[in-house]
Amino acid sequence: MIQGPGPSGRATSIETIMDTLTAAQTALRIDAGRLWGSLMELAEIGATAKGGVCRLALTDLDRRGRDLFVRWARDAGCAVRIDEIGNIFARREGQDNGLPPVLTGSHIDTQPTGGKFDGNFGVLAGLEVIRTLNDHGVRTRAPVEVVVWTNEEGSRFVPVMMGSGVFAGAFGLEVLDQADTEGLTVGQELRRIGYAGSEPARHFPIQAYFEAHIEQGPILEATDTVIGVVTGALGQRWYDVVLTGMEAHAGPTPMDMRHDALLAAARLIQAVNQIALDHAPDARATVGWIDAYPNSRNVIPGTVRFSVDFRAASDEVLDAMDTELRALCATLDGGGRIRAVLDQVVYFPPQPFAAPMVDAVRQASRQLGLSHRDIVSGAGHDAVYLARVTPTAMIFVPCKDGISHNEIEDARPEHIQAGCNVLLQAVLQQAGVVAA
Ligand SMILES: [Zn+2]
Repeated sequence: MIQGPGPSGRATSIETIMDTLTAAQTALRIDAGRLWGSLMELAEIGATAKGGVCRLALTDLDRRGRDLFVRWARDAGCAVRIDEIGNIFARREGQDNGLPPVLTGSHIDTQPTGGKFDGNFGVLAGLEVIRTLNDHGVRTRAPVEVVVWTNEEGSRFVPVMMGSGVFAGAFGLEVLDQADTEGLTVGQELRRIGYAGSEPARHFPIQAYFEAHIEQGPILEATDTVIGVVTGALGQRWYDVVLTGMEAHAGPTPMDMRHDALLAAARLIQAVNQIALDHAPDARATVGWIDAYPNSRNVIPGTVRFSVDFRAASDEVLDAMDTELRALCATLDGGGRIRAVLDQVVYFPPQPFAAPMVDAVRQASRQLGLSHRDIVSGAGHDAVYLARVTPTAMIFVPCKDGISHNEIEDARPEHIQAGCNVLLQAVLQQAGVVAA
């Protein structure tokens, strides 16, 4: 909101001005055709035969995508800065450039079999907001910046959400030494593609961060809702589980004398699934990887390793799920035939977003007459790190069949348009508009 100058005696006149400005700003709409055109043009860089995009972080294709964004941002009158981890900031000045900017953006790197919209939508929606402000000669009070975060996907280099993680202080510049499978490091590749910037890779004062993104899940489509008002991100606990029994011959060993680690794993996996069902609707439990040893047709499996991925909206629920899993492992086999070792390997705390920013998204959806519902992000996003250092919210739009990280990932132009209009209104609400 536009901040009043202070003395309460002037409140009435300021409110009058705000009313006028609100009417002007709420009438603004983005250029949906231009946004869609830009999305399709960016998607040509690394386009795959199946209609997706393969643009891994810090490759030549990533450089071409970055170059295109930088050219578009400069054409839109923005000043471009690049920080030490390669994050790109495109700035449109406001009336008062001493104010912290309103920041929006996402990432443009993709999975090897990625789609056109994941990340790219958030970046180009931010650019479209700036282009729209230019078209209508709108001057904001605070500056507006669009950011491209480096290596969100974590496909070529770990950890995921690298650029935003460094920015938020989750990790330091030691990630520059992270190497891909060929031994090439993040630092080397940033220099090679010309995006090893000089700005400190550290967060600066930001008034608000908004990230528009496809949902990457099925809820909005299934409920025929256009806008997901994202209230936060699920916390995560990941585990490695090792069950140890004993290998034995499948023929001579009677059923009641076996130490079958895979059978125990099967029962445990069922129970893991039940744990999430017991904490519906926001809890998730997934066993996505399993390895049975010796994995031979006529041998009773002696050792089974598998992963468990727990997600929940609160630490309270995550802790309860953890306790239940540990209890299951402890009581796996009363006869002591199977030994279970549980090792937690990843923990991300649940990250609620800032209520005033979430509210700005909700208000904008309502004001635009768009169907909307609160939703929790089950996936990680750059916004999750940003939320640690700045008031943050996200805007979700539906994607076809809820599918993402897939070349067939798709979104409808009217949903892309709606999400960008919500972003525009949320940005304006935070940046404030200066009367012409
Ligand atoms: Zn993404």
